[in-house]
Amino acid sequence: MPVNEKMVQEIVQEVMAKMQIAASPSGQHGLFKDMNSAIAAAKEAQKVVRKMSMDQRERIISRIREKVHENAEIFARMGVEETGMGNVGDKILKHHLVADKTPGTEDISTVAWSGDRGLTLIEMGPFGVIGAITPTTNPSETILCNSIGMLAGGNTVVFNPHPAAIKTSLYAINLINEASLECGGPDNIVVSCEKPTLETSDIMMKHKDIPLIAATGGPGVVTAVLSSGKRGIGAGAGNPPAVVDETADIRKAAQDIVNGCTFDNNLPCIAEKEIVAVSSIADELMHYLLTENDCYLISEEEQKKLTEIVLKGGRLNRKCVGRDARTLLGMIGINAPANIRCIVFEGPKEHPLIAEELMMPILGMVRAKDFDDAVEQAVWLEHGNRHSAHIHSKNIDNITKYAKAIDTAILVKNAPSYAAIGFGGEGYCTFTIASRTGEGLTSASTFTKRRRCVMSDSLCIR
Ligand code: NAD
Repeated sequence: MPVNEKMVQEIVQEVMAKMQIAASPSGQHGLFKDMNSAIAAAKEAQKVVRKMSMDQRERIISRIREKVHENAEIFARMGVEETGMGNVGDKILKHHLVADKTPGTEDISTVAWSGDRGLTLIEMGPFGVIGAITPTTNPSETILCNSIGMLAGGNTVVFNPHPAAIKTSLYAINLINEASLECGGPDNIVVSCEKPTLETSDIMMKHKDIPLIAATGGPGVVTAVLSSGKRGIGAGAGNPPAVVDETADIRKAAQDIVNGCTFDNNLPCIAEKEIVAVSSIADELMHYLLTENDCYLISEEEQKKLTEIVLKGGRLNRKCVGRDARTLLGMIGINAPANIRCIVFEGPKEHPLIAEELMMPILGMVRAKDFDDAVEQAVWLEHGNRHSAHIHSKNIDNITKYAKAIDTAILVKNAPSYAAIGFGGEGYCTFTIASRTGEGLTSASTFTKRRRCVMSDSLCIR
């Protein structure tokens, strides 16, 4: 159906005129002084979005995609500069991936039953205004990806971004609103407040106009959302093990694991965090890690020093998260060669640098006496997060056994972890993997309500 742009513009103007909302003086789109004003603005914008055709939503999404491509390097540089995490090259790739492979309105499909008693449809409708909480590790990637999916579903979004990534997050929010305005859509399809905190997040979670909350982050935020009394999509922490058995192509396994583990300095929650290798091939695997994949083997004493810095006082040191291997080695006085990408060592599964989710290129290898032992240790290491796991094996029975035992939202076989989000693998991209609440890899349809529409005894024309 052709878009009536004049009508949309008129609705936008009428709504904006009625709004008495405390907009930020900064000139930045979608930014409000306080959370209540931000929610009010998103609510008004949603009134416009819900009257738009699917075609109009898709045009805005296409413009967002173009702008993300154009701004990929800016986002990457801003993200690294503001958070001190990750690397520019990989972040550029992540933004192009979001632009190319995040599903839009094509993800919203209708299910129909047609028969003697008529026609029944399941239509996917918007929730309204969705509250979204986003992490430091993939700040703009998550906001852009969430926005495309949530808008495709007919929603507008209130973000409470991580305060340590606020500039990068606001740049993304501004860009999305610019895309909407350039296509004749409303401003404030995505919004935030000037100083997001735990308090503003609390306001959002309790607000009557927010029916659904999507939280992407660690265990604290997911638990908070699930305790809010609202419907919550919980995309929580992981600690993905990469199992390698004796049937794998060991040389390729070493290469794939290091490529996945070092991507954006190990920030993605899906990235390999430790290896569990069957004993008969463990030495060969370590050989390839060291000789062909730019890994640096640390001694027991160096492991202790690194543990003291990385897990300072028993808590994850934010200054180490998303740093590259050479920087981490420099923190314990090692001046590693320029090519070094990953820190490796062998240890028991209880080793703190193995058991904890670190989000940095430190890869401990646990030795297993046989495949069953490898599965048992990997399940322990995943800590019941049910998030992501990886395996290198050519034995289908082994792969099946592992898949059933670990029961994760993602299981990548014989490839780097990033194949799971459509990078070198089939399927779509997302940066919100709802591990705790079971939606899995979220997309536009995740952010819709299912509605049954029944026509009794008519419209079946078979
Ligand atoms: P974080 O948990 O520190 O912060 C995430 C967001 O939650 C931030 O906006 C933060 O301000 C907010 N937050 C934290 N505690 C809160 C609470 N009690 N109430 C309300 N809001 C709260 O995480 P981070 O360091 O930014 O990101 C890394 C973590 O997120 C890792 O554990 C990683 O595995 C996980 N993660 C998961 C996914 C996924 O899709 N499952 C994606 C990215 C990151």
